[in-house]
Amino acid sequence: MYPAPIREYHSPTTIKEAAGLYAELEGEVMFIAGGMSLMQAIKSRLTAPDCLIDLNQVEELKGIDISSNTVSIGAMTRYKDIAASRSKLRPYDALCDAAAHIGDRQVRNRGTIGGSLCWNYIAACTPIATLATGGEIEILRQSSGSIEKILIDDFLKGAMETAMDDGDILLRVNFPETNKPAGSSYKKWGIVKDAVPVIGVAVYIELSTETTCAKVRFAVGGLSDGPKRSGRAEEILLNADVSQKQYIEEASIAAADEIETASDPWISSSYRSHLIARLGTDVINTSLSLARDRLS
Ligand SMILES: Cc1cc2nc3c(=O)[nH]c(=O)nc-3n(C[C@H](O)[C@H](O)[C@H](O)COP(=O)(O)OP(=O)(O)OC[C@H]3O[C@@H](n4cnc5c(N)ncnc54)[C@H](O)[C@@H]3O)c2cc1C
Repeated sequence: MYPAPIREYHSPTTIKEAAGLYAELEGEVMFIAGGMSLMQAIKSRLTAPDCLIDLNQVEELKGIDISSNTVSIGAMTRYKDIAASRSKLRPYDALCDAAAHIGDRQVRNRGTIGGSLCWNYIAACTPIATLATGGEIEILRQSSGSIEKILIDDFLKGAMETAMDDGDILLRVNFPETNKPAGSSYKKWGIVKDAVPVIGVAVYIELSTETTCAKVRFAVGGLSDGPKRSGRAEEILLNADVSQKQYIEEASIAAADEIETASDPWISSSYRSHLIARLGTDVINTSLSLARDRLS
């Protein structure tokens, strides 16, 4: 299908210019980042913007910056660059795990962390990994011109919904820089390898001793209402003696029991729950092992 005609295309070079253009232009105006999701929606006429504001020339939105105790990933940072930045992003390895297996090479060369979070597709990998690692989303509000920082838990709403309003620009995703013995991991299972998963699970763990978790975030995606955390899995692991394998299995099974899954023509709800438990065990073990490596 041919896309509906797009009346105007603009390619600003600064955030200020991009925000100004949005305020000036008439009709339906949309930002475009990697175009990996938006172009499909335009081509299938799910959406028909009159004007596109391309963020690809806005250098301020690109790159990974480590300063003033914060690890900051610009909204226009591509998956390929996140996947290649494991040493910089430690202990937020789950983000690199996700970025390294999103789509194919072309998608990883174009797709951006900001685009993925704004789109918030139900099974997208980045929202799951960002939910587990506790990112803080920085947004420029179009209505007030002010910058707002929102914890990922409050940013992600239902499926394909976020706390963004029309014309807002996602600027960056921030994480506290930490030397704590922490680790995180993301794993997915899909019908097609390296594509949007059926279920994806990510975990972030901080240790207080070699065998005790001081902080745990357990996130699951591939659910009909968007990514969710499992409070029960987190509760079981927190302060438990995680050298005992039983707690790890118990936590993964608790997540599978707690999180509601649905059936579709390809995958049953019970298989989705099985995947949560199976992938959950794997990502807990990997996160623990990464965290232990960082114990001094
Ligand atoms: C073949 C294929 C396979 C894929 N496989 C996977 C996969 O395995 N896992 C996975 O997670 N995803 C997958 N995807 C989706 C991919 O991750 C997309 O790149 C991502 O969803 C959107 O990122 P983008 O940069 O391309 O954003 P775009 O498509 O350009 O934009 C998406 C939305 O975000 C808005 N937007 C973008 N940036 C900003 C910003 N800074 N501020 C405000 N609004 C903004 C746009 O207006 C639009 O509404 C796949 C896509 C394809 C085509």
